[in-house]
Amino acid sequence: MKRKKYAVFTIDVESFCDTDCISRSSHAINVDLLDGFDEYLQILDRHQIKGTLFTVGSLATRIPDKLKPHLLNGHRLALHNYEHLPPIQIPVEQFREQLQKSKQTLEELFQVPIEGFRAPFFSMDMQHLQVLRDLGFTYDSSHIRFRKARHTVPLNLSDFKEVRPGIFCNNNFFEFGLSHHKLFGHDYPVSGGGYVRLSNWQFMKTLIKQYLRKQDYYVFYLHPFELSKHKIPIPNDLKSYDRYYLKRGMRNYGNHIEQLINLLKKHNFEFVTFEELTQLLSHKL
Ligand SMILES: [Zn+2]
Repeated sequence: MKRKKYAVFTIDVESFCDTDCISRSSHAINVDLLDGFDEYLQILDRHQIKGTLFTVGSLATRIPDKLKPHLLNGHRLALHNYEHLPPIQIPVEQFREQLQKSKQTLEELFQVPIEGFRAPFFSMDMQHLQVLRDLGFTYDSSHIRFRKARHTVPLNLSDFKEVRPGIFCNNNFFEFGLSHHKLFGHDYPVSGGGYVRLSNWQFMKTLIKQYLRKQDYYVFYLHPFELSKHKIPIPNDLKSYDRYYLKRGMRNYGNHIEQLINLLKKHNFEFVTFEELTQLLSHKL
């Protein structure tokens, strides 16, 4: 019997100010551009897809009214760190303290369990991963195999069993990696973010189709600003690559995401949250 295929749609709910090049700029920009979050949720709701919302803890407490209706509608809340900082740059005990407090605050505020984590910049190592396990998280989704990603260090998952390509498990704790496809002999992420948006769409669609034909797990992620209808503010001191990153592929991105969803449907993928997938896979182990 063929294995079921699962697709997980996620968003890293963060302010535009948290975007790497904006946070490094010396020009203060003070806009969230969270209307892109609403756009994305509208797309998911149109297709009756429940997503996992990896939210920066300090931001979540600022926008409870924006998040609550979506949680009542079946989307799941997870953490994208307390502040939008790479975990590997935070001392382990400080990380533990902040995360424990943030998890507890959000669970009380939203009355939902917080089970998952995604590191800003996919910046995770085994020491910080252990903190997640100690605090009762059941999964992390920070594993990326792309040598050029900023702030990332290779996550040593040798103690984990790869239960499906890209999904790793150790004692019922899951590491959900991004989806990658081989491109010129290297792993290239096909999971969203800049990797999908900045690429030529026809080319990326072909890559994703090749991936979907072979694989039975796919994950997509987005930043709210990528679907914002507002003009993206671009500080004067940004380098040309950063300007390109903030401008390229925005106009039709919502449409491309719809096409991607239709591709997944055509390839018989079932849409689940990471929380559901954790349950589904735990029962099979
Ligand atoms: Zn982020």
